Amino acid sequence: MFLQALFLLSSAAIPTFALPAGTTNQNVSMGHIGHTINIPDPSSQACNTKQPSQELKNAHQFLRDNKLLQPRMTQQILVNVYSHFVTTYDQASLYPPVTRNTLMANQIAALNSAYEPANIAFTLKSTSYTVRDDWATDAKSTNMKNSLRQGKYADLNIYFQSNLSSAPYKYSAASTILGYCTLPTNMTYPNWHGGLTEFPSYDYATDGCNVLAASMPGSPVAVPGYDQGKTAVHEVGHWFGLLHTFQDNTCNPSDAGDFMNDTPQESISTSGCPTWKNSCPNLPGNDPINNYMDYSTDECYTQFTPDQQARMVSMYNMYRKNE
Ligand SMILES: [Zn+2]
Repeated sequence: MFLQALFLLSSAAIPTFALPAGTTNQNVSMGHIGHTINIPDPSSQACNTKQPSQELKNAHQFLRDNKLLQPRMTQQILVNVYSHFVTTYDQASLYPPVTRNTLMANQIAALNSAYEPANIAFTLKSTSYTVRDDWATDAKSTNMKNSLRQGKYADLNIYFQSNLSSAPYKYSAASTILGYCTLPTNMTYPNWHGGLTEFPSYDYATDGCNVLAASMPGSPVAVPGYDQGKTAVHEVGHWFGLLHTFQDNTCNPSDAGDFMNDTPQESISTSGCPTWKNSCPNLPGNDPINNYMDYSTDECYTQFTPDQQARMVSMYNMYRKNE
């Protein structure tokens, strides 16, 4: 079968982006408690999601070329969510149980609102809570996920970390990124009986999204411009297989970019929320500054295009459903 062959291709993933330049300090008072919070510099918003594998790019190309195979989205996809709060000892008092419950409810509502046009819904199954410095900074990400991940490959795990960092080994180094997420990959392989064998669950233990806790809606440590929960919306888009709208950073019309027909090509990611921008003036359309898969601030993030919606459903069904 074609898809099976498609899935056999793979390649090593490499980091997408240079590390962001700086962080800013913000003093936050909660009652009598004063906290110094390190938050990402909004001018260097960074998503550390890795480059797509050749296998995933082939799947995108296949789905782009075979529109008939794209589902009509008549059936809702209901995704189980397992969330995990992980804070440092220093930040723990900012996230008491009542706050965690409120933030999670707000975040799930933000996800459901953004994904409703694609007929994708999220239901919160459980929330864990851990106070541990080396997990909160992402210094021991694999160790953390081996301990905390719940459910199957079809289930979404999101780690809301208080000090999510791209340089986590330098503890206290601050939160320098807003998030990153794993892209989907094939979780079955052909066996010698001619059938398919599923990879064991430990093979996908690291699957899931990492999100800076301060980006959750209603966070006591709001990051200006990133306070409506749309960082998680962006990261979960990667979990479904979507790439950045500025993928490959080029205006070359022969570059496949994000493999969508309805997102104008964009060579430079958007920062802030401009009224418009056009980084490829010789190609049709202005930059998709309102697209969740660009880098705009939350107020600018308002849409997935019809192709992206259909692609997420296709990729979920190909890669994650029943896994
Ligand atoms: Zn991203």
